[in-house]
Amino acid sequence: MNVSIFTPTPQFANDLCDVVRIFWGGAAFSINEPGGDVTVTHTEQVRDGVRFCRMEMTGEYAGAYEKSREVSENSLLEKRFHKRLIKQCLYEIMKQAAGRTPPWGSLTGIRPTRLIYEGMSRGLTLDEAAEEAREIFDIQPEKAALLRQIVEVQSQMGEPKEKDVDLYVGIPFCVSRCAYCSFLSGEVGKGKQLPPYVDALEKEIAGTLRLIEEKGLIPRAFYMGGGTPTSLSAPLLNRVLSAVQPFIDKAKEVTVEAGRPDTIDEEKLRVIRDHGATRISINPQTMHDETLRRIGRRHTAAQTEAAYALARKCGFRHINMDLIAGLPGEDLGMFLQTLAWSRALSPESLTVHTLSIKRSSLLHLWEAELPEGAMVSAMVDAGRAEAESRGMRPYYLYRQKHMAGNLENVGYALPGHACLYNVDMMEETGHVMAVGAGAISKRVDPAIGRIERAPNVSEISQYIERTDEMLERKRALWETEWAREPSAASVNESPDA
Ligand code: SF4
Repeated sequence: MNVSIFTPTPQFANDLCDVVRIFWGGAAFSINEPGGDVTVTHTEQVRDGVRFCRMEMTGEYAGAYEKSREVSENSLLEKRFHKRLIKQCLYEIMKQAAGRTPPWGSLTGIRPTRLIYEGMSRGLTLDEAAEEAREIFDIQPEKAALLRQIVEVQSQMGEPKEKDVDLYVGIPFCVSRCAYCSFLSGEVGKGKQLPPYVDALEKEIAGTLRLIEEKGLIPRAFYMGGGTPTSLSAPLLNRVLSAVQPFIDKAKEVTVEAGRPDTIDEEKLRVIRDHGATRISINPQTMHDETLRRIGRRHTAAQTEAAYALARKCGFRHINMDLIAGLPGEDLGMFLQTLAWSRALSPESLTVHTLSIKRSSLLHLWEAELPEGAMVSAMVDAGRAEAESRGMRPYYLYRQKHMAGNLENVGYALPGHACLYNVDMMEETGHVMAVGAGAISKRVDPAIGRIERAPNVSEISQYIERTDEMLERKRALWETEWAREPSAASVNESPDA
């Protein structure tokens, strides 16, 4: 489907395209140029302090929709409301054209919980904020209830305090590339890059720990992710974890992603345990070996079972499991089998992802298509029912672009097992010092809604050469003086979450 959009506000063109994609995922666009199979014409005017917006669609799905709202005197807020107004107009005619209401209504952003927090910051109760979000954005009641439940669980976890900081260490290596993955991870191959990478990490970690101490920051959560951290050998893992030990010793939570079951052995698990990990992640994604082969994961369901048994034997009491709904070639019955099988492995937390086909993934290169939304929606619902039947509660949620059925990813956990780091990352409420290639440090000031980032270079050999510069970037991030008022970026970013 080619869609021509004529708009007097081309600065919001990407937002308008995102709204169309809610309904027509693979659509291509021309902005202010003719030639589409369908044409959308946006017109608007401001009269007596009110902005009137009209969207008209011609062609097979002819229809029109008008909406207005008062212009705000605050220019930053007005920009947000203006964008929201035109998105909602377009959403309404798209809904008429497609003849269905999507699960998340007109929301196109990745963090819908922000809407609830924003409503509560204006004095609404949790119930009122969830209801307001449902009404404004046409969110389905069960999704609004999910947001409500998540914010309730998060409120019991405690937000980071002003001086709290999380530490992230990235290991951007994997034993093979999964077809759906868009991460910037390199294949381990013969492992030649691993020792120099660990040398660089040790240097960056030492400098980062000095900075944390200098700035009086307090360790909160440690997270080692990637890539696949367990693609490092046990001695290299030991070196990295030894380097971060002073932070781990003071942290409330220590996660190491063991990710791929085919990278796990007893020696590595013992190293991770002995350094104090409180949580590991072993991720099957599916129990079906034919799917695992199809998506380039070189392990089997039997290897996952063995990895869980080994981890339990080594004493791990919190294992997270990631599953994906909508993997190529899978139907609802297969996903239900995966859920039933996962029950026997008894993970303490379960993350149910929805397949998304990102542009940098192999699935995109292979021109794979997203599965049918209704089927994936049934899978996601089954994942939720399964998690709840095991006593788990949803505690974080995010959405992505190009996602099957425009659904969501949800983390569930047994009481007391929700991951602080995941919530800090998703809600952007805490500082993060991040080390490793492609890692992004973050400094936040929730009081003024300001978030600034310092990214490390992604290319591994560049990272190894320029480790000192990565440290300087972090120092600059923490040493820049901030005015006590919101930046334009922070105001614009949300809460059209
Ligand atoms: S193991 Fe994880 S990081 Fe590595 S390619 Fe697969 S999905 Fe991506």
